[in-house]
Amino acid sequence: MMRQYREMKDQHPDAVLLFQLGDFYETFYDDATLAARELDITLTARDGVPMAGIPVRKTELYVQRLLKRGHKVALCPQVERSGKGQTLLRRRVIRVLTPGTVLEEEGLQAEQDTLLAALYAAEGRLGVAWVEAASGQFAAEEVPQAQLSEVVARLEAQEWLMPNDWSTSISLTGTLTQRPQEVFADTPLKERFPRALAHTPLAARAAGALLTYLEETVGSLPHLRPPALRDSSMHMLLDGFTQRSLELTAPLRGQGGPTVLSVVDRTHTSMGRRLLRRWLVAPLRRVDDIQERLNAVQALLELGAEEPFKDSLKQCCDMPRLVGRAGLSRLFPPDLAALRRTLQSARCLADQLRTVPEPPAKLTELAQKLEEAPQELADKIAHALPDDPPREVDSAPVFRRGYDAPLDEALARSDELRRDIAELEEAERQRTSISNLRLSYNKVMGYYFEVSRGQLEKVPEDWRRRQTLTGGERFASQALDRLADQLLAADSTAADRQRELLQKLYRDVQDSIPPLAEAGGALAELDVLHSLASLARNRGYTRPSFNSAGSVRIVDGRHPVVETTAEFVPNDLLLEPGQRLAVVTGPNMAGKSVYLRQVALISLLAQLGSFVPAGEASLPVFDRVYTRVGATDAVADGLSTFMAEMQEAASILSEATAHSLVILDELGRGTSTHDGMSLAWSIARFLTRRVGCLTLFATHYRELASLADELPGVVNLHAAVREWEGNVVFLHRVLPGVAERSYGVHVARLAQLPEEILQEAQKLLSRLEQGGGPAVPAGVQLPLFGPHEHPVVARLREAKPDTLSPLEALQLVVELKEEVD
Ligand code: ADP
Repeated sequence: MMRQYREMKDQHPDAVLLFQLGDFYETFYDDATLAARELDITLTARDGVPMAGIPVRKTELYVQRLLKRGHKVALCPQVERSGKGQTLLRRRVIRVLTPGTVLEEEGLQAEQDTLLAALYAAEGRLGVAWVEAASGQFAAEEVPQAQLSEVVARLEAQEWLMPNDWSTSISLTGTLTQRPQEVFADTPLKERFPRALAHTPLAARAAGALLTYLEETVGSLPHLRPPALRDSSMHMLLDGFTQRSLELTAPLRGQGGPTVLSVVDRTHTSMGRRLLRRWLVAPLRRVDDIQERLNAVQALLELGAEEPFKDSLKQCCDMPRLVGRAGLSRLFPPDLAALRRTLQSARCLADQLRTVPEPPAKLTELAQKLEEAPQELADKIAHALPDDPPREVDSAPVFRRGYDAPLDEALARSDELRRDIAELEEAERQRTSISNLRLSYNKVMGYYFEVSRGQLEKVPEDWRRRQTLTGGERFASQALDRLADQLLAADSTAADRQRELLQKLYRDVQDSIPPLAEAGGALAELDVLHSLASLARNRGYTRPSFNSAGSVRIVDGRHPVVETTAEFVPNDLLLEPGQRLAVVTGPNMAGKSVYLRQVALISLLAQLGSFVPAGEASLPVFDRVYTRVGATDAVADGLSTFMAEMQEAASILSEATAHSLVILDELGRGTSTHDGMSLAWSIARFLTRRVGCLTLFATHYRELASLADELPGVVNLHAAVREWEGNVVFLHRVLPGVAERSYGVHVARLAQLPEEILQEAQKLLSRLEQGGGPAVPAGVQLPLFGPHEHPVVARLREAKPDTLSPLEALQLVVELKEEVD
């Protein structure tokens, strides 16, 4: 058996192999340690082999858990029944489940697309293809390889397929699956979709690898649509750091905290929720596209018919996934009822849209798509099925009476036989005078009479004993058997007929997959636009406008998330076209980060087509937004804070363009004051002079404010604080000018550091501020260059080499050396 196990495991080295042993799926060796850890099950050992098992009936639950943690699972059941004298049963891997290829019945998350993506790079370009196995959506694009991190952040795939000779330092969102180079060929794509991706050979190779992988894991997926070629230049680029530091879809720390997504989400369907998430991580870049969405949002806002929209949207099923299940022939009667409700809602929504006066193009387009939904399918289903049909066909009537004569006949026959059986029970009770005689049914024995122990002597001759229990006995009779057989036959005729009729309906659905998918897309989009309109209404957002001059005018801007949790102080940002750098100074906790992020988020929301949290907003269209915040997450990967900060800065310096928005929060915090300040200074200068992007820079180094003296187009802002009875009060107001002091000691007091420490720090600070020499404890090295000069430097400054004799010069060197030592 272990030899058989080895053979299977060798074929699936990167999957957890679940090997069936009777009622359990067992894992062995490393798989067992992993399963024990991830599934919290007991690790045992037999003959020195570690093993851990799960009951077969709980497979689904445990498999889901493994997939969620990013593992692959190979399911290897026994494929023959155990017989007498047989020593080894045949087993076979029947399915490989992977995080990126999950199908509906295996428990998909409704909140997020479950994507499998493939990457193939050559000569500085990157081919990307991605697919959602559950719904059959398939897409691809080709981008410069430098955009890898944006692609990874935008797709959020659960699994990434890459050639095994390719290494990348990007941290992926999901599981990494490496395949040999030759798998990345376009042949499978050409065979299945001959005309697809003809002009993007790298994307075609990535798509080919996807198809091969799908074939190996889930099968050929008949509902897969040809890959749509996406144009990445339509989107604002956001890399992973930016996405995380803006807390777009996940909070920076911990779980469950509010995110931009959770605050803006007012959708009513899961397909809408998933689409909103996609929009949020890939805002638009073409003004026309943005205006198209904004027009739609505004029209819906003005229409104000929130309730009717909400009611109709709430009736909609998850259409893309239902379409996917239809493609896989995995539909059930309740799906048909859900589809009917959805189609009816689509009609109501289209009618609603038609009431919009002077509708913008987007709404007309959506109304049209909804009107093109196959309503005859809804009518057919409504005619055939009740509102709430059972899932299982065997157990109950599924169809409406009067829908199909042969079915009604078979059902009537069943009813009649059930009545006959009930009558037989009554008749036998009379005949035998067994007062508590019971006629029962179970799956194994069928119908039987049950007689309690005390009444057994009354059992008639013509009954047959079938089973003895503690409390009594069970019997059958010829008449009962005959009726039961007839009933069985009638039931199975009815069930067969129901199945046949359902298959017909399922086929009708399958024949309508393209228009249904279109309608589903339109419903999701309408849900998102409507959600944006509700958001604007409920949170008092305003419509942004765009300018090509490069000026920024945000009046009374707010941070969309922070304003939901605190009494918020709105702030402005006013930049003339030539002003490219804003240096925001202020003590820690004064509100600098919030201010910077609110500017980034307002731009981002505006470009996704949403109204924005501001009294007024006019913005340039940005091609990329970068935010860097004191390098929080890279540190966990073993990089020093400083190294991580510098790597991130390097990527911005090489990729940002004159149309980018760069937000640097406390850059240079990871190293010594002077290093940090100097680097921050040079980086800000480089961005402003060479790159020409719009940079917002927050720092508690007030020295950086003097950049304004050196560079044109620099604006100094500060987050205001007020001193009050020896304490600081943060006003959270951002005003022009430079912060006066850094108030570090005050902030430390707020953090309740011991008074003794605070007093000593205050003394030290005062001395330093008065330029009072090395008040620092011995052993602490003073930097060579800085506000308080090292004595060696001071002497060097005074020295006049021209007037020194060689001997004097030597003497000076000796003295300086002594001083340094
Ligand atoms: P800094 O970056 O200057 O250290 P933060 O921007 O992190 O400070 O702000 C500190 C805290 O102050 C935030 O967590 C938030 O609760 C609050 N805050 C910041 N800005 C505002 C504002 N405009 N209105 C109300 N509260 C604010």
